[in-house]
Amino acid sequence: MQSTVAKQIRFDGAGLHSGAPVRMVLTPAPVGHGIVFLRSDIEADAADTRSVRIPARWDAVVPSQLCTLIRNEDGVELSTIEHIMAALAGCGVANVLITVDGPEVPILDGSAAPFVDGILAAGLVRQEGPTRALKILKTVEVETETAKARLEPSDTMEIDFHIDFADPAIGVQDKHLVMANGAFVRELSNCRTFCRKADVDYMREHGLALGGTFENAVVVEGDAVLSPGGLRHSDEPVRHKMLDALGDLYLAGAPILGRYVGEKSGHAVTNALLRKLFATPGAWAYVTADAKTASRLPGAGVSRADLAVCA
Ligand SMILES: [Zn+2]
Repeated sequence: MQSTVAKQIRFDGAGLHSGAPVRMVLTPAPVGHGIVFLRSDIEADAADTRSVRIPARWDAVVPSQLCTLIRNEDGVELSTIEHIMAALAGCGVANVLITVDGPEVPILDGSAAPFVDGILAAGLVRQEGPTRALKILKTVEVETETAKARLEPSDTMEIDFHIDFADPAIGVQDKHLVMANGAFVRELSNCRTFCRKADVDYMREHGLALGGTFENAVVVEGDAVLSPGGLRHSDEPVRHKMLDALGDLYLAGAPILGRYVGEKSGHAVTNALLRKLFATPGAWAYVTADAKTASRLPGAGVSRADLAVCA
């Protein structure tokens, strides 16, 4: 069955790039609604808010290197949606309206854990509609000069990620996870964005990352982790890349039954992969998840206790 949140959930924080205060509110939504964002700071017709609604869909994504940015047909945008999308995917939330009073989702601690905690504390409601999944039928791959990503058939959802950074504090990291039974919440949810000190300095000089801190990002310089308290997991960076991938893949409009393999990939490459997938006849099908299939999706078997395990 599809799920929505049991009640309204509020998150107050700051935008990563603007540094400006932002409030985000999750509101329960009916079967078939999907995940839709709404910019409450932009004036709209009270009887028809379509002009300020942005569907959380792969074809609404605008290319951006730093985050996942979506835009509707009226040009209304919202950025940095990937961590709340990962939390929704990881908790199995199919339907929700997300109101944001600014151009960015609040960054909070740079991970998905505060979102997961808020969602699981409020609880989920099972709805009268079957869960849909996007089944991968044929392997689809995209490749750029520096990165690769592919989706392969699998009867569960798996993520396989490889990163290789020159900075010794990150270096080479590999991880593979089957995403069912709370794996996202236990293994990935509290892993933060990471960046180089030099990149932070550059962004700051250009008026970006003004809401970034040494707490809400893992900041590295050479072989040193500058963030106080160090890493939450020895391989926190690759885990965060997997978190981002789960969030970006949820823009398919349904959980994916398939294996995602990312090599140094990121938001833009994952979106290019979804675009190629949907443009490839015979590579995918939406299926109604029976009980066995549903038990293999990321939201299956999640509990709030899983979050404590991740800490
Ligand atoms: Zn991220």
